[in-house]
Amino acid sequence: MTVMTTPVLVWLRRDLRLDDSHAIAAALEAGAPLAFLYVLDPAMKTRGVGHAQLGFIVEGLNDLQARLAERGGGLIVRRGDTVQQLLDVARELGAQRVFANRDEEPTAGMIERAAEEALRGLGAELVVVDDEVNVPHELVLTKEGNPCRTYSAYARSVRRVLAELPSPPHDYDLQGRLLAAPAPEIPSVEMLVGRPVTLRSDVPGGETHALARLRSWRDEGYLAGYAKDRDLVAEPDATSRLSGYLRQGMLSPRRALHVADRADAPKYASELLWRDWFKYVLHHHPDLAERCIDPRYDRIEWFGLDEHFEAWTRGETGFAMVDAAMRQLTETGSVANRARMVAASFLVKDLHIDWRRGEQWFRRHLTDGDLASNAGSWQWVAGTGLDAAPYFRVFNPDLQEQRFDPTGAYAARWAPDRPLRIVEHAIERDRTLAAYKAVATDLADPS
Ligand SMILES: Cc1cc2nc3c(=O)[nH]c(=O)nc-3n(C[C@H](O)[C@H](O)[C@H](O)COP(=O)(O)OP(=O)(O)OC[C@H]3O[C@@H](n4cnc5c(N)ncnc54)[C@H](O)[C@@H]3O)c2cc1C
Repeated sequence: MTVMTTPVLVWLRRDLRLDDSHAIAAALEAGAPLAFLYVLDPAMKTRGVGHAQLGFIVEGLNDLQARLAERGGGLIVRRGDTVQQLLDVARELGAQRVFANRDEEPTAGMIERAAEEALRGLGAELVVVDDEVNVPHELVLTKEGNPCRTYSAYARSVRRVLAELPSPPHDYDLQGRLLAAPAPEIPSVEMLVGRPVTLRSDVPGGETHALARLRSWRDEGYLAGYAKDRDLVAEPDATSRLSGYLRQGMLSPRRALHVADRADAPKYASELLWRDWFKYVLHHHPDLAERCIDPRYDRIEWFGLDEHFEAWTRGETGFAMVDAAMRQLTETGSVANRARMVAASFLVKDLHIDWRRGEQWFRRHLTDGDLASNAGSWQWVAGTGLDAAPYFRVFNPDLQEQRFDPTGAYAARWAPDRPLRIVEHAIERDRTLAAYKAVATDLADPS
């Protein structure tokens, strides 16, 4: 690869977009042409990236390649060990500076540190900037200056910071600023995993689709109806279905919040901030997926049966909303929040199975599978996390179905058969309350 001017390299990770990227904005200040690299690292699998998510990433890379080409640039895609590929490309380009958006997940942090050291050995510098949330974590504190321990304190602090230091989406012009690169061979998901893939996301990956969905969902009136309709699980447009895009950074969190605020949609804005909150929780509790934040609950005895776990994964529990959610998950990688809560609560509180097993299953199958949001939500449902649901909140799957799938359309679409019920809810609820109280005798009684 020969280049006329030494470029700077933008190392893309979970920020597969051109719009409002702090790494791109920082790289542009260097004044040199920008080259873009993405590494498809086989180790992604061990980080919980399943087939639905991988397919979504591949679609996103194809989209990004086209967007870069439209602006006179290109995308370099490599396969292999991330640090080695990054070094190779930096060396080939003669890049002295590499820009990246921070990825807060613990494994990503380790890769980042290894990359920094390896690049230093090459005489190059890695510049990492905050981008993943609306307000950098260290700025979010209670009025007393402590880390927030509840979502509402977090959201209030974020709003205080944004009132003083607004963080609108960046607008920059990339035309004439990009290093041309030949269109890469982007392997298909089948090539990457070495076999046919049936699990496919029902939303197409890529920044172009993310921006189009954000606008059309707002313009067609769904954003206005969100606060009222968001729990109607049979209605695919009741929620924005942007989480996969946010997870891969195909959509900027600032762009999404900006749209919500301008449309005066506080409920939607607050849900976007739940995403940021869980990243904040992960920042303060890097072992979020491994340990209960409230350590008392790590003593709970999870006495559930393996065969019940298997039935849950297959959507064969006999509880329609649980089964519909689980089958939708394995077929499409997407499930609405309400149905996720019901299925998760059922695993933990009706089947007595450790939330960590459910967390891993979800993360591997969800298109938006995200360590922070997923582990944070599982701990919320299990009642073991920060500001979590109280331990005695046990969803009644039948009542949930009556309220949120009143016509039965969701169950009919995904789980039309009715297998025999594997447990009886009322009995299991009592066993759960007893198990939680056994490890934390000072728990308040349900009021
Ligand atoms: C057990 C369980 C596991 C979950 N796992 C994940 C996960 O791996 N990845 C993930 O992105 N979300 C997860 N969530 C949160 C939530 O279910 C999804 O973000 C939401 O269903 C995505 O659909 P949407 O984009 O249509 O959301 P909308 O309702 O349109 O919300 C807009 C955006 O706000 C964010 N958001 C909304 N609700 C939540 C929430 N409760 N927690 C965190 N962020 C939220 C998402 O980024 C979402 O795209 C989980 C929830 C539960 C109960």
